[in-house]
Amino acid sequence: MARYIGPVCRLCRREGAQLFLKGDRCYSEKCSFNRNPVPPGQHGNARVKFTEYGMRLREKQKVRRMYGVLERQFRRYFSEADRSKGVTGESLLMLLERRLDNVVYRLGFASTRNEARQFVLHQHVLVNGKRVNVASYLVKPNDKISIREKSRTIARIKDSIESSARRGEITWLELDKESFTGTVKSLPVRSELTLDIKEQFIVEYYSR
Ligand code: SF4
Repeated sequence: MARYIGPVCRLCRREGAQLFLKGDRCYSEKCSFNRNPVPPGQHGNARVKFTEYGMRLREKQKVRRMYGVLERQFRRYFSEADRSKGVTGESLLMLLERRLDNVVYRLGFASTRNEARQFVLHQHVLVNGKRVNVASYLVKPNDKISIREKSRTIARIKDSIESSARRGEITWLELDKESFTGTVKSLPVRSELTLDIKEQFIVEYYSR
């Protein structure tokens, strides 16, 4: 499965926001964006006034990069959200939130979505007791997401659980640290996601 493997801090600087792609480093004073919050490249310091189109493009890119989804798949999510009954922008975010790699990250089993994706691909993650190695698998209410018993000694997973509290409470998920198991209490709604995202811009970008 294709994914972006280039330097990630420059993505934050390009989008003008912390995308939290590097785990612990993002919360430390070493964060590149906090140290130098200008776009990467020779002309990063130049003042750029975005056009209406540019603002919508950047918002779309920001969300796509935050969730680590490539363009073709992101567009497929948009089409699915557009066909759904709810508000398109919100439905798009809900689909992204329901991805298994995102849920593993939200539960605190991984320090980044990229790491979560790796855990899923390496079959460390079970859904309702069965191995699922598809990062884009969409979770449903009452699904139980757990770490395979043999994998519970992995230091990266244990460390991540310990440091996950600083990411804030995720109200639609419930974690039982002792059993390395999380439960999807309900599908997320927009008000539960404290994301600084203007999803309407993404809708406008694809509807142009
Ligand atoms: Fe972005 Fe800072 Fe994390 Fe780098 S360390 S990925 S700049 S939030």
